[in-house]
Amino acid sequence: MSTRVVIVGGGLAGLSAAVHARAGGAEVTLVDPGPLGGTARTAEPAPGWRIETGPHTFTARCPSLLALITALGLRDDVVPLGSAAKARFLRRNGKLKANAGALGLGEVFALVRGLFARANTADDASIREWVAARIGERVADEVVGAMVTGIWASLPEEVEMASAFPAVAAAVKAHGTAFSAAMAARRKAEPSPLPGGTWTVKGGLGRIGERAEQQLGGQRLRATADSIRREGDEWVVATSSGELRADRVIVALPAWRAAPLLEEVAPNAAAALAGIEYSPILGAHWTSRDCAFPVGFGYLASKVEKAPVLGMLFTSDLFPDRVPAGARGGATLLGGTREPVAVELSEAEVRRRILAEHQTLTGKAMTLDTLTLVRHPYAVAVPAPGHAALRARVHAALPTGLRLAGAWDGSGAMEDAARSGQDAARAALEAA
Ligand SMILES: Cc1cc2nc3c(=O)[nH]c(=O)nc-3n(C[C@H](O)[C@H](O)[C@H](O)COP(=O)(O)OP(=O)(O)OC[C@H]3O[C@@H](n4cnc5c(N)ncnc54)[C@H](O)[C@@H]3O)c2cc1C
Repeated sequence: MSTRVVIVGGGLAGLSAAVHARAGGAEVTLVDPGPLGGTARTAEPAPGWRIETGPHTFTARCPSLLALITALGLRDDVVPLGSAAKARFLRRNGKLKANAGALGLGEVFALVRGLFARANTADDASIREWVAARIGERVADEVVGAMVTGIWASLPEEVEMASAFPAVAAAVKAHGTAFSAAMAARRKAEPSPLPGGTWTVKGGLGRIGERAEQQLGGQRLRATADSIRREGDEWVVATSSGELRADRVIVALPAWRAAPLLEEVAPNAAAALAGIEYSPILGAHWTSRDCAFPVGFGYLASKVEKAPVLGMLFTSDLFPDRVPAGARGGATLLGGTREPVAVELSEAEVRRRILAEHQTLTGKAMTLDTLTLVRHPYAVAVPAPGHAALRARVHAALPTGLRLAGAWDGSGAMEDAARSGQDAARAALEAA
């Protein structure tokens, strides 16, 4: 008889767990009340205008995400961003500066010196501590700080280096300097499943969940899991549509949602998960016919800029086929741990901020044809200093037959969600 696996949560983590458990011969039931794909969703607020309400892109080094996409039959629809996306801007002193042009001469020297710098930073050092010790505080706050804003909507002192960039942190620790680490990496470069650059799925990342919806069919239960308990040899998952009995349970939820479900069966894991912070993000999606932002990927602003927004993606340059002809489109990010209350801003205030930013950065007025707000009070798991140790404690505190997955079990990105789902499915079936 095949192993009965109940998976709670149908975001990318749960979907990845489902396809791997199914491939391993398990009898899978996936429980989720909403559309599959979780945060990764594509919407069409107006004819001819498609937006990503959650994540937009992924990098070439995403083997588990690619495995999920491939298992769902979408591999041929994985496409790179167009060449217009090559220019990436930083907001510096109220101006947009592209790529290397964003760095001052002193910062370029600091970066080169940093390649050869040896520094002793703790294993749980923040990104700010790690970069400041090797390259300097200014680059840590203003350049790396802007990048951290773009990924975690957080400050570089709030994110653990070893969780955010595990391969870099481990290689520099092993080889002493970034230069030696880079040389070693070149020597044993693992083949990447994609040839570099930044990628998406044709038509939007929401297609992953839509395709899973078709493929899972009867293996999907449209319900909310309310509690989990053990009865003899079985796990019992109580849902809004009745009880499910299983040999293995995989809880693939954001940490703050998983914690209350685990209180009875894994109290120590629940307590640790409850301590993982999420940054809040307000995504403001717009189109305009007189937008004068330069063409490119978009821009980010470190906290030093005191800008009214965290940054913008120039979405019509990333995905030219997703906006009406003649319009440009953007996704403006507001809030983050820098200004958590911004997730509740009124539409009028968001509009005012976008237009003010455009005026400051281009010297021109802009009119918005459309504006759609997407509020994420719990947007992205922030891997705070101590996160790697916390994850190890969580997994060690799980009873046999219960596994966890979710983007929190890594750096908070889509690849972490997919990889953790794959790991959880493997561990669940190994224990069978
Ligand atoms: C605005 C934004 C931009 C982002 N940009 C990027 C990016 O560009 N690149 C990147 O790699 N990552 C990005 N991310 C992060 C990425 O979206 C997440 O890492 C990933 O989608 C999380 O997947 P998950 O499966 O862990 O959780 P989720 O996507 O949150 O899925 C959890 C699922 O569980 C379900 N659920 C909740 N409670 C229950 C319950 N009790 N019972 C049953 N089901 C339940 C929900 O309905 C949901 O479907 C972004 C996130 C946001 C919010």
